[in-house]
Amino acid sequence: MAVSSYIGRFAPSPTGPLHKGSLLAALASFLDAQANGGQWLLRIDDLDPPREVPGAADRILRQLDEHGLHWDGPVLYQSTRLPAYKEALQQLSRASLLYACYCNRARLRTLGGSYDGKCQIHNLNSSTAIPDKPHAIRIQLPEQSTIDLEDLIQGSLRFDLSKTGDFILWRRDQLPAYQLACSLDDGHQGINHIIRGSDLLDSTPRQIHLLNCLALKPPQYGHIPVLSNAEGQKLSKQNHAPELSSDDTVSNLFDCLGLLGFSVPSELNNSSNQQLLNWAVEHWQPGNVPVLSRVTESDSP
Ligand code: GLU
Repeated sequence: MAVSSYIGRFAPSPTGPLHKGSLLAALASFLDAQANGGQWLLRIDDLDPPREVPGAADRILRQLDEHGLHWDGPVLYQSTRLPAYKEALQQLSRASLLYACYCNRARLRTLGGSYDGKCQIHNLNSSTAIPDKPHAIRIQLPEQSTIDLEDLIQGSLRFDLSKTGDFILWRRDQLPAYQLACSLDDGHQGINHIIRGSDLLDSTPRQIHLLNCLALKPPQYGHIPVLSNAEGQKLSKQNHAPELSSDDTVSNLFDCLGLLGFSVPSELNNSSNQQLLNWAVEHWQPGNVPVLSRVTESDSP
């Protein structure tokens, strides 16, 4: 039955054009939205100028269009939302949840990815926070922070947030951190379904916690496998993942559908993007997506 209040989204970072791995995430979220009679919004996560590639955002928009993945409504660019991120930071600070973290990279490296709370004494509301000294801003987690998730693809998952510790909401280089911007924008746009790659599974419990702190309702999540190269590394610009070819859009979609667990009838080989997508919307079953963290291109039938 169609759930008309469904709002999903795809949120690429403009660090380069789309490759097959990003098409896989776009396609899965698109199909889930369409199959539920929902809206599919597009957000460009352009908050990290040092990693941005000029022209990549426009290229991504064109590539989605070329593949028949048409989004609803205007594109949201995160770079236009700075005042909202600052306001959310104020809100969390008023609740005494934030502290300034002066730890340098060398110290953080010794902690191996799990922050030990050393700077908790520098709560932003206390006199030990020194605004002029370069710092990141972290959110202090409660002692007990277990997050349970009914993932639409991976099933029941349980996370212990305290394992990785208090996380950064505002970066030392004065940019909003991904966790803050993403959670706030998902709330702002009323996103209630997020289908994305399982490389973001670590972020999901943090975003659920943050949404709860901001009195915003967490969406439902589904995590698809990440597409890896033959060496088992996630396809990415750093690993020289080739840009999607505009000449092979049907075959790109065909390959991605295979990776999402579809057995596409071979007569659809000669179909248009639209025919293929219509067929896929009709046959989309999140339960058929492989419950794996990674797939490689050779896994497509
Ligand atoms: N912009 C982020 C990325 O491309 C992730 C967005 C999301 O939360 O889906 O990895």
